[in-house]
Amino acid sequence: MTLSNRAIVKAAVRDLLSRVEAALGKKISSDSPIPLHEPKLGILEVEEVSKAILSGYVSSVGQHVDAFARELQAFTGVKHAIPVINGTSALQLALHLAGVRPGDEVIVPALSFVATANAVKFLGAEPVFADSLSLDESLSMGLSVESVMRILTEYEHKPSGLINRASGARLAAVVPMHTLGRISELSELRERLEGLLPIVEDAAEALGSLGEDGHPGYLADAVLSFNGNKIITTGGGGALLTNSDDRAALAKRLSTTAKLPHPWRFKHSELAWNFRLPALNAAAGVAQVGRLPGLLIDKQTLYEAYERAFEGSEFFDFLPNPPGQKPNNWLIAVVARGFSVDELLDDVVASGLHCRPMWDLLPSLSFYSESQRAELSNADRVRRTVLCLPSSPGLARAS
Ligand SMILES: *Cc1c(COP(=O)(O)O)cnc(C)c1O
Repeated sequence: MTLSNRAIVKAAVRDLLSRVEAALGKKISSDSPIPLHEPKLGILEVEEVSKAILSGYVSSVGQHVDAFARELQAFTGVKHAIPVINGTSALQLALHLAGVRPGDEVIVPALSFVATANAVKFLGAEPVFADSLSLDESLSMGLSVESVMRILTEYEHKPSGLINRASGARLAAVVPMHTLGRISELSELRERLEGLLPIVEDAAEALGSLGEDGHPGYLADAVLSFNGNKIITTGGGGALLTNSDDRAALAKRLSTTAKLPHPWRFKHSELAWNFRLPALNAAAGVAQVGRLPGLLIDKQTLYEAYERAFEGSEFFDFLPNPPGQKPNNWLIAVVARGFSVDELLDDVVASGLHCRPMWDLLPSLSFYSESQRAELSNADRVRRTVLCLPSSPGLARAS
C-alpha cells in the first residue's frame, strides 16, 4: 500500500489518533499536545539537589557523584560506573579506552542518533556505517552482523591489526547501539570479533534493559545517557559502565584531568578531559535511580496498553519487544504497513500527538556524506516505516 492519496493519509492519521486515545484513555488536542517523552522529576530530586547545594560540594568532588555511581552499579550489576557530563563524552571515553586513536576507523550503525558517529569523529577517527537487522530478522533493529562481516572483507590482517585496503587505516572498534532500549544481539558479534576487535555498546537509550546476557556493560564496556529525554535524567549526563578494574581506574583519571592526588599541588599525569559529572547533576541522578524500578513498571503498562490498542489496525503493526529480552520500553513504536511515516507526521504532530520517526541515516548528513558505508537497505526501511509513540512513563497512569 502506498499513501499517495490524500484521503488514505487522512484515514491513517485518524486510525493512529483514535488508537492512541484508546490506549491513553484521553482525547488528543493541539491545545495540550502530548510530548514524546517527558522526564519524571519531583520532590525527591529537589531534596537531593538541595543536599548537594548545602554540602558546598557542587562540582566533581563530593559524595553525590560517588553515590550516583554506586546506585548505577547496584542497579545494573556492572562492577563500575563512571558518571560523566553526557552520553557523547561517555562514548568518547569508552572508545578511547577501547584503543581508538586518530586515523583509525570504527564501525557504527547508520541508524543511530548522531552522537554515536560524532564521538568517533571527535577522537580523530572515521566512522564506517553498517546496516541494521531487518524487522523480519529481528525486532531489535540492532546492528547486522552480516553487514559488519561484509565490511570486514575490505580489511586485511596485518601485524598492526585489521588494515583497510583502500584507506590504509586501522579498524579499531565496533559500536552496536541498543535502539529505543531494545538490546542489539551481541553473542554472535562477540564470537565473530573475538580477539579481533573490541566492542563498545552505545546503551544511551537502554538503562534498565536486560538482554539474554544481562544488562549492557556486562559483556562489553557500555555507555549511558541521562539527557532530559532518556528514561532517567540528570539534566545532562552520561556514564561509562565496565567490569574491568583497570579501565574503570583509567576512565576516572581521564575524565578528571588526570590530576594526581595532592593537598595543594597541580600535577597531572597525562593529557586528559574534564568530563566528570558535577555533583548537582549526580544528586538528581541518585533520586532518579530510586524511581527507576517504578518507571520500568509504568512503561510496561503503557507498552501493553498500546499493544492492545493497535490490534486489528489496517495501517499499523505494533512493534513487539524481541523475545528473550526485557527492554526498558524507552520509546514504544508501531510500523507503518508499507508506506512512509513521513507522509503523515506533519498532520499527526499538528493534531497534538508528538510522534517521531527514527533518525535520518547518518551518512545522509552533509558532514558524513563522504564516509564509508555498507549497503543500508534494512536501516533505510526501518527509518521509513517505524513510528515512535509518546512514551512518557506518566502516560500509563491515565490508561
Ligand atoms: C542520547 C543518545 C546519545 C548521546 O547522549 P547525550 O547525553 O545526549 O550526549 C548517544 N547515542 C544514542 C543512541 C542516544 O540516543
